[in-house]
Amino acid sequence: MPSADSYAAQPVRKIHAMQNQKRDPYLLTPGPLTTSATTKEAMLHDWGSRDKEFIAINGRVRERLLALAGAEDTHVCVPLQGSGTFCVEATIGTLVPPEGKLLILVNGAYGRRMVRICEYYGRAHATVDTPEDVPNDPAALDQALADDHTVTHVAAVHCETTSGILNPIEQIATVTARHARGLIIDAMSAFGAIELDARKVRFDALAASSNKCLEGVPGMGFAIIRRDALQRCQGNAPSLSLDLYDQWVSMETNGQWRFTPPTHVIVAFHQALDEHAAEGGVAGRGARYRHNCEILVQGMRKLGFMTLLQGALQAPIIVTFHMPADPKFDFKRFYDRLNEHGFVIYPGKLTVADSFRIGCIGRLGEAEMRAALAAIRDTVKEMGVTHCGPKPSEAATA
Ligand SMILES: *Cc1c(COP(=O)(O)O)cnc(C)c1O
Repeated sequence: MPSADSYAAQPVRKIHAMQNQKRDPYLLTPGPLTTSATTKEAMLHDWGSRDKEFIAINGRVRERLLALAGAEDTHVCVPLQGSGTFCVEATIGTLVPPEGKLLILVNGAYGRRMVRICEYYGRAHATVDTPEDVPNDPAALDQALADDHTVTHVAAVHCETTSGILNPIEQIATVTARHARGLIIDAMSAFGAIELDARKVRFDALAASSNKCLEGVPGMGFAIIRRDALQRCQGNAPSLSLDLYDQWVSMETNGQWRFTPPTHVIVAFHQALDEHAAEGGVAGRGARYRHNCEILVQGMRKLGFMTLLQGALQAPIIVTFHMPADPKFDFKRFYDRLNEHGFVIYPGKLTVADSFRIGCIGRLGEAEMRAALAAIRDTVKEMGVTHCGPKPSEAATA
């Protein structure tokens, strides 16, 4: 029988998702994403929730996230356990009072998810819709707010990851502020790579997570909330564990999370934020992703694939490609073969066209993007596909 000591001393077993694979797969997806070795290494310790060092690290993470949003003087940062959706749900539940009404700008699955959250919570809501390949419409928002004085808050998605489209968040913020309503931004897939500065863009709250453009490991989200708005939110949340007012008040009181903190995730996030700063912050991270995106789009077009979005609408986060019309193109096989080569791509989520997606974010650069393109070229060839373009009907609408 092994003693307790020898049990604890057993070497860590390395689990690989795929046997025979020399490296971890590159995750060209909307998340979870590829992280640096140093970020993963930061997790090789245990911390107690009351550990002084851990509490200091947690405080620094919160301060640095506020600074990334230019929001140190006006907003507070409230972190929350769970995936990004937990944080979007908590932000809506905490900010929009039971008698409030949320107007949601919808052009994809994440906008529709906020509608679902309102349905669960029984919060009054309305939508202003545009097709998935068309940005949110600030003029339609202006009209909707003029028409409906019961709307208290507006919600928008900065980069709608469903298509990869960039929504006009500055204009949305200007219109919302002119009508004196509160703005809630799902900035999940943009925060840390696309500028969003509270001194230039007026918002009541944004929600984002550890594992998108900030390249931490998944497991927590955070909201950046205008202090004077949050101060009025006591008792709004219909959920105990997703009450950001309560989470904020507790954390301000003793520096601690209300419930078991995701200690390893936070310490890894701290390391990831160091690496984000070393890369030149939002500008540096954004530049790498834009370069990844350009290489990807150029390379795929050269192979004959067609993007859903034209240049100006495309955020440098994730790119949607039309499914090739060639009957020899079998997406399942394409996906599996790329997986075997160590590249994970993502199926499409569009209702407007048959598509798939390739991400530009995570700890990946030019070499990895070029390697992915080479694997795609080989796979297409292997399948005997000669044309990677979409059906003529889809090509016409793009
Ligand atoms: C990833 C993402 C989320 C959160 O998704 P989870 O799977 O809950 O982490 C929310 N909104 C957008 C726009 C996203 O890209």
